[in-house]
Amino acid sequence: IEEAIEEGVIFRFLANPETIEGKNGKVVGMKLQIMELGEPDEQGRRRPVPVAGKFDYMPVDNVIVATGQKTDISGFEALERNKWGYIVADEGTFRTSMEGVFAIGDATNEGASIAIAAVGEAGEAAKVIDSYLAGNEVPYRRPYYSKRKFDAEELADRKKMARARMPRHDAGERRRDFREVNLGYDDKVAREEAKRCLECGCHDFYECKLIIHANRYPIKPERLEGDKHPDFTEESLVVIERNQGKCITCGLCVRECDIVVNKGILGFVGRGFNTVIKPEFNDQKIIAECAECRKCVDVCPTGALRVITNK
Ligand code: SF4
Ligand code: SF4
Repeated sequence: IEEAIEEGVIFRFLANPETIEGKNGKVVGMKLQIMELGEPDEQGRRRPVPVAGKFDYMPVDNVIVATGQKTDISGFEALERNKWGYIVADEGTFRTSMEGVFAIGDATNEGASIAIAAVGEAGEAAKVIDSYLAGNEVPYRRPYYSKRKFDAEELADRKKMARARMPRHDAGERRRDFREVNLGYDDKVAREEAKRCLECGCHDFYECKLIIHANRYPIKPERLEGDKHPDFTEESLVVIERNQGKCITCGLCVRECDIVVNKGILGFVGRGFNTVIKPEFNDQKIIAECAECRKCVDVCPTGALRVITNK
């Protein structure tokens, strides 16, 4: 919106097109009905209502109608549609009423949604279609995700950084050409901007073996109710940090450091449920001997270890 205003776009609020006027086969102006906000409805929303007898006139040389949307189903008339005209598709298998035809996105069921929802459905449908072509149609099953609450307290130590301003072509130039408006960040600003990322998801999501197995053997987390390790990050290890909430104490990092790297920096500290991975014997001095090879991070199956890069 800011960019449009810079380029001279005028936004007229509370003005409804009443008639479009023309001369010699060309549009010349538009009569606008002036509106005002009515009384709040039951949801508190004040809908615009016409102000009786109050109009405005706007000279124009072009009118582009840019409101509303409608599904164009031409070519798909044989498919079953719902009362809104959208293609009926099964939400688990994406099958339509026609054998071998699958449908996803804005043209189906509930109609228009955000673009990323359709993109996501495409990925899910591809898996189902693949299984269908192999003669073994498997409905899409929502993958298991491990979730945690993430509140402001956890971010208290993060420095607030304003978004860097994207350099752009001058508004006067932009009005006259179709070049890319944004010029992009330079290397330095891009790096600073990347530091603003809160990394609120798991950095190892696509490689986490625990998630892979949880989905391969449909996990039932309710069977494992009970105490959980607190979710905190410890940065006093070597060039890595360890997230206690993700560690399953498999010991791979300990063995890697001990047997492969031959350093023995990491060890199990504590007993039973309270066991954590720390410098061997909780001896902080041993950290000085770390080879910074980061092999312990590579073998960690759950993303509990992470190379510190954001410092
Ligand atoms: S970085 Fe290498 S030497 Fe240091 S703790 Fe990890 S495996 Fe051991
Ligand atoms: S490899 Fe990862 S999950 Fe396994 S003990 Fe080490 S930190 Fe924990």
